[in-house]
Amino acid sequence: MIITDTHTHLYSDQFKEDRAGMVKRAIDVGVSRFFVPAIDSTYYQKMLNLEKEFPNNTFLMTGLHPTSVKENFEEELAFVQNTLKERNFYGIGEIGIDLYWDKSFLKQQQIAFKTQIKWAKEKKLPIIIHCREAFNEIFEILEEEKGENLFGIFHCFTGTLEQAKKAISYNMKLGIGGVVTFKNGKIDKFLNEIPLEHIVLETDAPYLAPTPFRGKRNESSYITKVLDKLVDIYNLLPQEIAAITTKNSKDIFGI
Ligand SMILES: [Zn+2]
Repeated sequence: MIITDTHTHLYSDQFKEDRAGMVKRAIDVGVSRFFVPAIDSTYYQKMLNLEKEFPNNTFLMTGLHPTSVKENFEEELAFVQNTLKERNFYGIGEIGIDLYWDKSFLKQQQIAFKTQIKWAKEKKLPIIIHCREAFNEIFEILEEEKGENLFGIFHCFTGTLEQAKKAISYNMKLGIGGVVTFKNGKIDKFLNEIPLEHIVLETDAPYLAPTPFRGKRNESSYITKVLDKLVDIYNLLPQEIAAITTKNSKDIFGI
């Protein structure tokens, strides 16, 4: 069984003490493909170090996270653009709009999101969308940018059934993680109406640990709790869920 964690921040300082052990625990339960989203320039070296340590299992992305869009966002965007010239990445993310933490940079977040979508389309790379309290703002931009070369993942999807269908209509897969195991997570109530062909698994480690680890540090091996929940929701075998969602991840990332 090959499980793919399409969204994990393995380079986080929260894994400083036991990174190799944490990756091994994941590999031992079948999680052998880790897609690693960027945040901003301050994490770049850590990501390169991670790739060096686990070259066969980690697949890096580049991008500017919406919560890192501040006064210096143009410099940060230039940094992302340079990384794209320098080397190969598997996606552009995480990018998007976050109005939960701070609304004052909405305009800049919109510019950064659109700019990075354009680069992704030019390079035919998937985008990894971070959306927090910003469905309308995100959909507005996807509507403008939709087309053949727009595709990717709606990371940590927590919307309604209607919003799920809308995201899929823009060529996005839904990234399903720990929230699906939460008592009040809501998406477990309608997910069976979304064909598995549109779903990928993720942890967002070290954040958003699934039940029964909720509130603790998340790690990629815990993705099996998400898998188990989808076994209940879709009434399929774990191997079937793993195979379909891993195939979906290959379709998106091209590896
Ligand atoms: Zn993330």
